[in-house]
Amino acid sequence: MPGSLVETDARHVLHPWADLSALGKPESLIISQASGVEVTDSNGRSYLDAIGGMWCVTVGYGRTELIEAMTAQARMMPYFTPFGDVTNQPATELAALLAELAPGDLNRVQFTTGGSTAVESAVRLAQFYFLSQGRPGKYHVLSRVNAYHGSTFLAASLSGKAADRTHFHYESGWVHHLDSPGYDPDVSTVPAEQRLAELIGGMESAIAEVGAENIACFIAEPILASGGVLVPPPGYHRATLELCRRHDILYISDEVVTGFGRLGHFFASEVKFGVVPDLLITAKGLTSGYQPLGAVLISDRIAETLASAADPANPVFSNGFTYSGHPVACATAIANIEVMRREDICGHVREVGPYFIERLRELRSSPVVAAVRGDHLMACVECRVDGEAGPTPRNQALARRVDSYCEQAGLLVRPYENLCIMSPPLVVSRQEIDRIVGILAGALDRAARDRA
Ligand code: PLP
Repeated sequence: MPGSLVETDARHVLHPWADLSALGKPESLIISQASGVEVTDSNGRSYLDAIGGMWCVTVGYGRTELIEAMTAQARMMPYFTPFGDVTNQPATELAALLAELAPGDLNRVQFTTGGSTAVESAVRLAQFYFLSQGRPGKYHVLSRVNAYHGSTFLAASLSGKAADRTHFHYESGWVHHLDSPGYDPDVSTVPAEQRLAELIGGMESAIAEVGAENIACFIAEPILASGGVLVPPPGYHRATLELCRRHDILYISDEVVTGFGRLGHFFASEVKFGVVPDLLITAKGLTSGYQPLGAVLISDRIAETLASAADPANPVFSNGFTYSGHPVACATAIANIEVMRREDICGHVREVGPYFIERLRELRSSPVVAAVRGDHLMACVECRVDGEAGPTPRNQALARRVDSYCEQAGLLVRPYENLCIMSPPLVVSRQEIDRIVGILAGALDRAARDRA
C-alpha cells in the first residue's frame, strides 16, 4: 500500500545520517523508479537527480547493459567465497581492467564492499606494509580537516568534518588532521601561492611533530567531496606527494568520488593533478551505483615489497569481507566500464562539465549565495544569509530551505551545512543542466525573498 509506505518507514527504519529530531515523523521521500537522470517517488512525482544517487549513479538510471550483466551473473553463479586462493571470474577480469585504467604501476587490486571498507583496507595495508618490514612504530595516519572517508570506525576517524564528530568516539591517538586544503580564488584574501606555502608548511610541521618514522600514510581526496567540494590550490597534490616520498610515507588517493569520470577521466590523480599514488581507492561510480563495490588499487612496488617481506610463520594479510569482489557487483562494473568506454562518457564530462560550472557561477549574483565552486560534474553552491557581512556562517537552515524549495520544484540537491552539493549523473545533457540551474535559481530567489 503506497499510502502507508512513508508511515512504515517512519516506524521502522533508522536512515543513514538520520536526523534524530525527525525520527518517527512520516516525512521521508521514497524513491521508487528511475530513468536517465530522473527519479520518481512513491507518489508518482518526478525529480531531476542532481545528486546522482549519492555521487554514484554515473551512467544514468535504467541502463539495460548493466541490468543484463548483473542478472546473467546472478543466474550463472551468484556468490562464492573470495577468501584465500578462491575467487570468481568477473573479479579477475575486473581487476585486469582496473589495472589498465589506473595510473602508473597500480596493477594489483583488493576488492571490498564499498568506499569505507576500501579506505579501511588501504590504511591497514599501509600499516601492515611497515610492520612486515620490522617497522612497527610507523602506523600513524595523516588526514585533513573537512575530509570525508566513510562511516566505519577508522574511516570516520580519518574524516574531518566537524559536524559529524560530535557524540562519537574516534581514534585520535594515531590519526592526525592537517588543515583543510580548500582554496577558492573568488573569496580568498591571500594569493594561491601563499595558501599553498601555508598548507605545505603545516604538513611539514605535522610530520616533524609526529615523526616521519611513526607515519605510515597520508590519505587525501583529490578534491574534497562531501566536506564542501573543496579544491586545493594549484601544486598542492604534487607538493604533498613529494613530502610523502621524502619521508617514506605512503600516499593514498581516495578517488571514491573523483574517480570514474566525475572530473572527466577514469582517475583524476595523475591526469589532472600529476600524482601517481601508492594506493588508490575507488567505489561508487565503479558500478555506477548499481551494486555495492569498492577496491584498493595497489602499486607493484608495494605488492612486491609485501610479498618479499612476508612473515614465513604467518604470511597472511588478514583483511577482507564476505562480499569482497562480489561476482554480481564485479560483472556490473565490467558492463559499466564497457558503457563508459563505448559512449566516451569521460569525453562527454569534459565537454559538459565546464558548462555546468559556468552556468552555476551565474548564481553568484544571488544575495543568498556566498560562493560557487567545483570542477566538472562535482559542484556546490555555498549559501549565506542575505545581508550578512563577514565570514559565511555555516547556516544549515538556509541550505535546507533551498533544498526543500528545489524538491518542491522537482530537483534533488544535497544540503550539507550551508552548502547545496551537486553531482549529477555523468550523462547529463546541456538542456538538463539548464533545468537544474533554472530550478536552483528559483529556489535561491525564494530563499532570498523569505528574508525580505
Ligand atoms: N571516500 C569518499 C571520498 C566518499 O565520498 C565516501 C562516501 O561518500 C566514502 C569514502 C565512503 O564510501 P561508502 O559510503 O561507499 O562506504
